[in-house]
Amino acid sequence: MTSTTVPDTGLPLDMIIFGGMGDLAMRKLLPALYMAYLHGNLEPTTRILSTGRQQFDRAAYLAHVEEHSRSFIASTNFDQRTWDGFLQLLEYVRLDVQAAPDFSALAQASRAGAQRVFYLSTAPSLFITICDKLSDAGLVDKNARVVLEKPLGRDLASAVDINEAVGKHFAESQIYRIDHYLGKETVQNLMVLRFGNSILEPLWRAPNISSVQITVAEEVGVGSRAGFYDSTGAMRDMVQNHLLQLLCIVAMEPPTSLAPDAVRDEKLKVLRSLRRFSLADIARDTVRGQYVRGVSGNEEVPGYMEEPNVPADSKTETFVALRAHVDTWRWSKVPFYLRTGKRMERRSSKIVIEFTNPPFPLFPETPGGVANRLVIELQPEEAIKLQIMAKQPGSGMQMQQVELNLDLQSAFQQRRAEAYERLLIDVVRGRLTHFMRRDELEAAWSWADPIINGWGVLGEKPDAYAAGSRGPSASFALLARDGFNWIE
Ligand code: NAP
Repeated sequence: MTSTTVPDTGLPLDMIIFGGMGDLAMRKLLPALYMAYLHGNLEPTTRILSTGRQQFDRAAYLAHVEEHSRSFIASTNFDQRTWDGFLQLLEYVRLDVQAAPDFSALAQASRAGAQRVFYLSTAPSLFITICDKLSDAGLVDKNARVVLEKPLGRDLASAVDINEAVGKHFAESQIYRIDHYLGKETVQNLMVLRFGNSILEPLWRAPNISSVQITVAEEVGVGSRAGFYDSTGAMRDMVQNHLLQLLCIVAMEPPTSLAPDAVRDEKLKVLRSLRRFSLADIARDTVRGQYVRGVSGNEEVPGYMEEPNVPADSKTETFVALRAHVDTWRWSKVPFYLRTGKRMERRSSKIVIEFTNPPFPLFPETPGGVANRLVIELQPEEAIKLQIMAKQPGSGMQMQQVELNLDLQSAFQQRRAEAYERLLIDVVRGRLTHFMRRDELEAAWSWADPIINGWGVLGEKPDAYAAGSRGPSASFALLARDGFNWIE
């Protein structure tokens, strides 16, 4: 282990995870906390209290963590002594969030005078109850922080209800609405790329940029999460949060500082500038899809309707593509194409900024057409590439597209923390910049709600697409109409 750092309050940390036995806690939160511990970003005085309804003694709980969480730590990062030390920080508290007495037990388990971070990794429908009961049990003090997982609510009204209720007990500066895409190194780097250099910013606008594409494609299906997913769908699960947050980072004006509110004010302006969709816009500029049986990773996989717990009449979308507009001077007439789907050909998240071609074709045309693109890859690998034209060697003046590849791995020979680890450390240190403020979240729902409601009014079934494919053909037509293609 390297040197340790303490929370910004200087107090010992009690991290209390609701949904502590759930999928997110096992796959992401505990491995991220282990990594923070490994790298000296969690004091040995830290305690991590996982809560859940099942009856476990400490040994059974640790065995569960060993079985369900440890395998999500890369073997190169695994160190048995550090892991054993990390397990010493963990405790299990049996707690049903509906039962007030269980919160008294939690109050006993949590140390008086500790910095308490409550991580709500449950369905959002439980957030209000949890915060009310935490407060009743006297667990919320001025040092406490609460982390709220996404999606926060299922529409504007429920998001407002949650925000109001949480706000009764926690000041806005104590609330960390997490969107792990904002914790990705490459997404944070996009801000540096834009505002730490002078060469890109003058070009970063209409008419120099002809389109922006944001894709978050997953190879996995809904699997055992269909119960949750069917009442959610891709729009609420992905577009309203992850894709809109990425859009904000691309489209925002330069903030006056990196102070949380300076950055969040600029993102809010983008969200408020998003053009609202009429029913006609929804019919023309959005595509919903649902995967059917197909082949993924060389294996035949079931369609969405065949997944366990999906209702026979489900019209839930597992894919969305849409054309959005940011109605500002900078982005006038620039389409923002957003796309996300499950059971796509491969896991791939990227932002593609397509620049307009030179006004006069001096050199022989190359097939493919577009001269310059900035491609920001977020998954599976993080990379930043600038596609530019270069002369092909030889006697002619034929052009060819080549890539300037910003090789950040070799430029910075240092570890790049995973998003959850980075954001958890931000919470512990009281850094709010990469978390959503209440008004941002509500502005995002205000834009998404009419689209979701409009789909209901139109009543159409989502387009079928084969699992392992690139989504419904209508999503290609959406771009082709404007003379663009999805960049894979
Ligand atoms: P999950 O596996 O279903 O876990 C949720 C946990 O909530 C369960 O383990 C359950 O614990 C607990 N719970 C339910 N009712 C409870 C009650 N009355 N009292 C106490 N605990 C209760 O869900 P998840 O996938 O981890 O997701 C958690 C949250 O993170 C959701 O909001 C989800 O949208 C969000 N999220 C998840 C992922 C992901 O990859 N999984 C990614 C991004 C965001 P017990 O059964 O042990 O009581």
